[in-house]
Amino acid sequence: MQSIETYDFTGKRAIIRVDFNVPLNEKLEVTDDTRIRAAIPTIKKVLEKGGSVVLMSHLGRPKKGPEDKFSLKHIIPTIEKRLGVKVDFAGDCMGEEAAKKAAALKPGQVLLLENLRFYAEEEGKPRGLKDDATDEEKAAAKKAVKASQKEFTKKLASYADVYINDAFGTAHRAHASTALIAEYFPNDKMFGYVMEGELKAIDKVLESPSRPFTAILGGSKVSSKITIIEKLMDKVDNLILGGGMTYTFMAAQGGKVGSSICEPDQFETALSILKLAKEKNVKVFLAEDALCADDFKNDANTKVCPSNDIPDGWEGLDIGPKAMEAFKQVILTSKTILWNGPVGVFEMPNFAKGSMAVAEAIVEATKNGAYSLIGGGDSVAFINQYGMADKVSYVSTGGGALLEYMEGVELPGVAAIRK
Ligand code: AMP
Repeated sequence: MQSIETYDFTGKRAIIRVDFNVPLNEKLEVTDDTRIRAAIPTIKKVLEKGGSVVLMSHLGRPKKGPEDKFSLKHIIPTIEKRLGVKVDFAGDCMGEEAAKKAAALKPGQVLLLENLRFYAEEEGKPRGLKDDATDEEKAAAKKAVKASQKEFTKKLASYADVYINDAFGTAHRAHASTALIAEYFPNDKMFGYVMEGELKAIDKVLESPSRPFTAILGGSKVSSKITIIEKLMDKVDNLILGGGMTYTFMAAQGGKVGSSICEPDQFETALSILKLAKEKNVKVFLAEDALCADDFKNDANTKVCPSNDIPDGWEGLDIGPKAMEAFKQVILTSKTILWNGPVGVFEMPNFAKGSMAVAEAIVEATKNGAYSLIGGGDSVAFINQYGMADKVSYVSTGGGALLEYMEGVELPGVAAIRK
């Protein structure tokens, strides 16, 4: 496997799969450029070493070909500002112009391709199927897009001499630009710095954690976190379970949860998690109390209740003060911390206090020498929103990819480079 540190880029064109899937406002301006900033070191490295760069990414979820609101042209000023280099643009990643511009690249130059997902071939999924399509029609459409995906991938590969994958956020997808393209560069493919950093951070936490190791898992549902909970059971000393999941655990044990989010079909699972934890000597911490609301609104009336005794008409939207204190104590005595998922409905400021207490404890533990990894879209959004990103050890850029990697799934984007 090649490395970006040692590879000789002199006179070479590198096609880099970046994750420029950034949020845009109604004026189509970038509102959070974290992902663009993350990609800069890799791009700069290639340019500094005498190479040129073709950037490719997706933006949003276009489902019917080109649409202005999903055009990557809107983010060019932000890339140029962060990179300090002019960025040329090819308005159709498969067009004649893209091929010509890529072929003419000189060392130090950068070309950005238009949104790859304007083509169904990027994801390899058929589009425009009628609702009443038969199974045969669906199969035929799938076969057709898979066949043209080969041409699509080959054409992208023809733009460059070397392939770099730096998009961790899409590494769990076997798309043209994230995995399939690697086959055209058997000896000239590598990870960028974002990918390298992500894999190193996760491996550090999972393979050689300093102890005690505490995982804090929040979010809304048990069902979406069950695989990761089971996987972590073999690794952690403490498991803090917060967020909407709390009430499924409480109800499964006979508690009253009012109108809190609750998944009765997960009761068995919740009970088996608690049993497994006992067997494996993992301490599980569930919130003892909850900040409850009489409506799913920021300005609803609130009161603190035991998490297993919530009156009808009330729902737990955040952890309560006792839980905050208990979680804080566990976090402060940990040497390795993994946080995925807010412990309350943090989008409403009145129910963000629990997640804030967790974040502050993680920051303090990190200051005292613990290694902290924050992963998953919502906890990362939280950490960024409150300007705490540089006060923890590592903030992952991947949500789904991070969870799947932690669950032990071989990510296609990672495998394609390592193979
Ligand atoms: P996830 O995508 O599974 O990590 O879930 C994140 C979402 O969980 C956020 O949008 C939170 O608002 C939501 N969440 C956290 N705590 C609760 C709760 N007590 N009730 C309902 N939703 C919650």
